Amino acid sequence: MSALLLDGRAAADAILAQLKPKVAKRNPVLAIVQVGDDPASSSYVKQKLNSCAQIGMLSEHRHLPADASEDDLRRTVEELNANDAITGFIVQLPLPGHLAHFESWVRDAILPEKDIDGFGAWNTGRMLRSKEDEIMPPATPAGIVALLEHYKIPLAGKHVVIVGRSATVGKPLAVMLLHRDATVTVCHSKTLNLHTFTTQADILVVAVGKPKMITAEMVKNGAVVVDVGINRIGEKLVGDTDFDGIRSIASAITPVPGGVGPMTVAALIANCVRAKELQQGEL
Ligand code: NAP
Repeated sequence: MSALLLDGRAAADAILAQLKPKVAKRNPVLAIVQVGDDPASSSYVKQKLNSCAQIGMLSEHRHLPADASEDDLRRTVEELNANDAITGFIVQLPLPGHLAHFESWVRDAILPEKDIDGFGAWNTGRMLRSKEDEIMPPATPAGIVALLEHYKIPLAGKHVVIVGRSATVGKPLAVMLLHRDATVTVCHSKTLNLHTFTTQADILVVAVGKPKMITAEMVKNGAVVVDVGINRIGEKLVGDTDFDGIRSIASAITPVPGGVGPMTVAALIANCVRAKELQQGEL
């Protein structure tokens, strides 16, 4: 068996094409605040700006120098909150070391109706309640759910095992999958005998940040494998799973790159469109 490739670029293109008429009608504007010139962040910012352009959505790049102060960042966030021309915005994380302690302030300082990354306490709390309350869900979990839905992979009654419990990926994804009637197990660095959980998964999602840590022996025959990890090895990007080893036993698998990454961008843009609908009293 060779696994079906869950092509995130194709699925993201389909989602963006569906958003295009809404963008033309409502003209949402997305802004990205970047502090410094971390190459990975610059590449993610570029992908987001390119995807906006792909569907005719206006975007702004607020690029602050690497030595920007807390006050510089605070002023930028406050200006974007108050700026009626901006529908939604994100602060690209991680921040440079001297501002790292400021990340949690940033998450909650963005107005809930402009918080298109869905990282603030208001959006996080609201999405906990029900599927209908996922107004601005965090972009990566929303992208993963959209990818599985795009490929018509059933979730109800399936055992999903998530490796990784971060506040931006693993934890909110667990909630979103519960809302879709999956049975969810969440594993982390203190989980004992990890393979005893991963080998039970109908759908295995890995969001750890360790290259190829999930090997074929840790995957059930016929499982669907979603690899969220992005690890840079020299010039190459690799995921958290051993793609070549696993693709012969899985029924479906995401590539890295080209799997979850483009879906995260599409979900962010979908959130910006929803933010505009929310602000216009449509939701
Ligand atoms: P994170 O905040 O560092 O969280 C990593 C998680 O992995 C933690 O919950 C940690 O457990 C767990 N973990 C670490 N070692 C483990 C082990 N040996 N066994 C089991 N669990 C282990 O990372 P993140 O932000 O969720 O990101 C994870 C990966 O996804 C990274 O490679 C990141 O670049 C990538 N990512 C990709 C996208 C995308 O759009 N494709 C978006 C976001 C992130 P503890 O909680 O116990 O420490």
